[in-house]
Amino acid sequence: MNSCPCTETHDGCRVVLTGGPGAGKSAVLELAKLFFCAHVRTLPEAAGIIFGGGFPRHEAVRTRRAAQQAIFHVQHALEATTEASQSALVLCDRGTPDGSAYWLGEGDLWSAVGTTREAELARYDAVIHLRTPSDSSHYNYDNPLRIETHLEAQAIDARIAEAWAGHSRYYNVPPTNDFLGKAAQALDILRDLMPPCCRAQVRPFLWRS
Ligand SMILES: [Zn+2]
Ligand SMILES: [Zn+2]
Repeated sequence: MNSCPCTETHDGCRVVLTGGPGAGKSAVLELAKLFFCAHVRTLPEAAGIIFGGGFPRHEAVRTRRAAQQAIFHVQHALEATTEASQSALVLCDRGTPDGSAYWLGEGDLWSAVGTTREAELARYDAVIHLRTPSDSSHYNYDNPLRIETHLEAQAIDARIAEAWAGHSRYYNVPPTNDFLGKAAQALDILRDLMPPCCRAQVRPFLWRS
């Protein structure tokens, strides 16, 4: 994050960066911290807090549902921390609709936590979906919290697309073999979503200058 001379009052546009496993989401979030000004607030991934903190992670349907409910509530609480901030843009590492892509068995996440899909989609001003590569050689296996196989990752990616279907500002970033090209595309979308007062502070991406 870079210091910024802007003293405007900001609306705190809430933007989700999501993606199937191995799509490069974490790397794009790190790049956003380098190239955008201090008025971009990045939230951590709720699932990372839950599973990184030791929440049981196994295949039992009851356990998986409990995890998704916990993730939902942590996500809401994380977003609440930014409400009085002077952020020009709040960048969320996934949003609550992503949880519905991981729901198993009867019913849905929304009735389990007492909300509706429409209400949750409306929480976010825009969503950027980085697609999981279809070629397994471009799949990133480095994340120790990642347990999916490549085929499972593609299935999850398709369910994430369904979870966000119909959002009024859904940006699809297709998989490419060139990660920097894909990252630049995502960062361009983010820059366009910044209010003009802070957009001028976005650094030019090194591979484009
Ligand atoms: Zn500004
Ligand atoms: Zn700024």
